[in-house]
Amino acid sequence: MSEEHFKHILSHSKEYGFVFQSSEIYDGLAAVYDYGQNGVALKNNIREYWWKSMVQLHENIVGIDAAIFMHPKTWKASGHVDGFNDPMIDNKDSKKRYRADVLIEEHIEKYVQKIEKEVAKGKKRFGEDFDEEQFRTTNPNVQRNAKKVKEINSKLREAMDDGDLDDLKELIEELGIADPISGSKNWTDVRQFNLMYSTQMSATDGENEIYLRPETAQGIFVNYLNVQKTGRMKLPFGIAQTGKAFRNEIVARQFIMRMKEFEQMEMQFFVQPGSEMEWFKYWKEERMKWHKNLGIEESKYRYHDHVKLAHYANAAVDIEFQFPFGFKEVEGIHSRTDFDLSQHQEFSGKKLQYFDPEKNQNYVPYVVETSIGLDRMFLVLMSNSLQHEDLGDGQSRTLLRLPAALAPFQCAILPLTKKDGLAEMGLKIFNELKLDFNCYYEDKDSIGKRYRRQDAIGTPICITVDHDSLDNDDVTIRFRDSMEQKRVKISELSTIIAREVSMKELLRKLN
Ligand code: ATP
Repeated sequence: MSEEHFKHILSHSKEYGFVFQSSEIYDGLAAVYDYGQNGVALKNNIREYWWKSMVQLHENIVGIDAAIFMHPKTWKASGHVDGFNDPMIDNKDSKKRYRADVLIEEHIEKYVQKIEKEVAKGKKRFGEDFDEEQFRTTNPNVQRNAKKVKEINSKLREAMDDGDLDDLKELIEELGIADPISGSKNWTDVRQFNLMYSTQMSATDGENEIYLRPETAQGIFVNYLNVQKTGRMKLPFGIAQTGKAFRNEIVARQFIMRMKEFEQMEMQFFVQPGSEMEWFKYWKEERMKWHKNLGIEESKYRYHDHVKLAHYANAAVDIEFQFPFGFKEVEGIHSRTDFDLSQHQEFSGKKLQYFDPEKNQNYVPYVVETSIGLDRMFLVLMSNSLQHEDLGDGQSRTLLRLPAALAPFQCAILPLTKKDGLAEMGLKIFNELKLDFNCYYEDKDSIGKRYRRQDAIGTPICITVDHDSLDNDDVTIRFRDSMEQKRVKISELSTIIAREVSMKELLRKLN
């Protein structure tokens, strides 16, 4: 995967109606994106796969939909007002703003790239005999660059963990990092920058400034008791939610990976204190299973265990995916102890406890959370599915090998021509199948062109209606991945499509 592949994802997303830049006619709004006609369908399907796997497949998980606006004390209690910061730095000449830690990470990446280039060169030179592990541990150029990566990384981690902004600035100067756009090294000091957006709510109760939520989790914590009591929930139980979150990210060229307005899918699982590590392990495995169930190559996923933990957590792990720009977090699983509920208890003065009938005791439950970005998951699927396939004879095709159940359309109905009653027959099939599946209908252009367009938006099955169909009540179905075609009876279509593309089959494998 490469920079080239990333560019292809961007252009394909736009060209085929998946993702547009927000307010593009006004030259766009940085790090804000809109989903187009195909993008919204894919996004809805990912959300549905997540929601059903949580709420429908677990008898002890329920869903809610909390408001984006919350009482401002929520964010004082959660620690976001005082601690939800990133270190920022401005370039005095270009007037551009950057995240200080990201500038350093990008500098590190240059050394990593040098190492990979050297390894690729070695592979080419030694061919079959190439021992990559030995090469990495003995080649002097690789060794020198690896040492540099380790040194800078350790300085960066130390400065970030200590919150030492002067050390970050010093490191940027020591490494000679220049503004990636202007090349200038004329930097301001590093300052903390709070990521929450605030706005005004008419002041009836004296609390004028409110925030746009930077995560959905707090809407779950403040509703813990409402749900537990009205749903008569017994520990362990979970509350799931999907919805928009807002962060004033300082970003550069990351497409939907890091947006200022994005969507999260979070589930807070409330457990008995003392059992949290067992549940942490359970959810760590369950969540990886959810990802791998989509048929994505195993080697593209990995865990990243947090060594240094946030003050409220006693275990944390990220699920990372190999994006075109390297392994990056898609989802976090965190054991958050009783931190959030205890904080809300203290700030609100309301008890947020659980009466455990077995222990005959009241206590604040512990929480294990799973938190995934819907937009990042969208990018996982685009990165993994967008392929260019050589068909021989100078022919090629671009296809989106999306998991069939998540594709924007499950099937396309394509009469060979509008004439001779074929369109009528195609529409009749469409009107029947649309009750169960999201179907596409098109009767213009050559069939080859139409197949290519369906490949490019990921439609797993095409159904072609031709003149024989009128006599025999059968049609040709063509499969996206294999391009295999076969003749089937119209009456069989529904069963065949359901077997190949339904969400039910995807969920069954998780059950
Ligand atoms: P990162 O370190 O990449 O900024 P994070 O650790 O701040 O992420 P969390 O606060 O744990 O992220 O949020 C949970 C999930 O929400 C992340 O795993 C990611 O998928 C998603 N997410 C977080 N910030 C953004 C963003 N700005 N744009 C898109 N998705 C995001």
